[in-house]
Amino acid sequence: MPHQSPEHHADTHVASTFSPDLSKTRNVDATENGVTSEPFGEVDGQPVERYTLTNETGMSVSILTYGGIIQSMIVPDRRGRLDNVVLGFDNLDEYVSKSPYFGAIVGRYANRIAGGRFELDGKPYQLPVNNGPNSLHGGLKGFDRQVWSAEASSFEAGFVLVLKHTSADGEEGYPGSVDVTVTYSLMNGNALRIAYQAVTDAPTVINLSNHTYFNLAGEGKGTILRHALLLRASHYTPVNASLIPTGEIVPVTGTPFDFTEARVIGDRIEQADEQLAFAGGYDHNFVFDRAADMPFQPNFLARVIDPGSDRVMDVATDQPGVQFYSGNFLDGSIAGTSGRTYERRAGFCLETQHFPDSPNQPHFPSTVLLPGERGFHSMTTFAFGRL
Ligand code: BGC
Repeated sequence: MPHQSPEHHADTHVASTFSPDLSKTRNVDATENGVTSEPFGEVDGQPVERYTLTNETGMSVSILTYGGIIQSMIVPDRRGRLDNVVLGFDNLDEYVSKSPYFGAIVGRYANRIAGGRFELDGKPYQLPVNNGPNSLHGGLKGFDRQVWSAEASSFEAGFVLVLKHTSADGEEGYPGSVDVTVTYSLMNGNALRIAYQAVTDAPTVINLSNHTYFNLAGEGKGTILRHALLLRASHYTPVNASLIPTGEIVPVTGTPFDFTEARVIGDRIEQADEQLAFAGGYDHNFVFDRAADMPFQPNFLARVIDPGSDRVMDVATDQPGVQFYSGNFLDGSIAGTSGRTYERRAGFCLETQHFPDSPNQPHFPSTVLLPGERGFHSMTTFAFGRL
């Protein structure tokens, strides 16, 4: 038997260690636990539904069939007070017209592909470019702009919403028809698990993530600069001026990218540093440290703490990296769900994923998906607790 450290079971460990004291959540005005759905407008004549999953321990999550968007995530703080900790809108039109991927499933390829170009089996592919010279988050009509089919159910530990979408051969320039299933599970103990599955009928590339912007103090309640972040990542992938990885995998030691011990996000974000300057802050892929004998187990790899509310979020994933984005492109021009304005750095994203531009970087973990029964599988859990 290979040695298994307790860390390898951190997915359950996180939820149990940091689950809130239930006596503190009973006094909140929690809706009855269960699943509800309601219409949330129409896009291109297609009706969109909003599903709300509410557990027994005070947390609820609303998910749209448009883009699989996590539209709201209501989580108790240390006193049991509820707040929506994700950025978003209260109506579909604004998601369609101006959302910077708030809460959405991103694919077929999360993050950037240089020049929108790659080769597979010696054949060149050109994707539409939608971010300077590059392709970002699956192109002009990525998975974030599709209406997914949905089915809700319950299981002994919580509630589940299964979303499905078939991405046609050639959609947004990618080869192969791909059946994608994304399963959201809201568990008692206040953890949301997102499981991704994809099966293709021809070789293609895939990188799936979720683009939720969190603010653990509550959506629209200032910046995330006072949140502390811990990332079990002793390396990251530096980028060029158009945010494409240079191909290097460099140590974080001695740089503002060192979050191997919890550090306040705002402490070093304005330092004179070429990498921070390229992105206007943090917008980089961190390479997770993993036990060599179990490279793809869902380890506990990231933690965020908001000292104001004492909310803590732990992230467990089986993915090799995470894009830590500090909301640098938010600029106060958007008023969100509650009507409050989202200023610069009003939210942060932890997009668990494979590395950006992997199809052009042969030494990065492969994002090639081949036809076959098993397909692509991955899982990320966001578990909420308190200090
Ligand atoms: C990218 C950012 C981008 C943001 C919203 C992140 O994943 O890394 O550069 O601005 O998504 O589009």
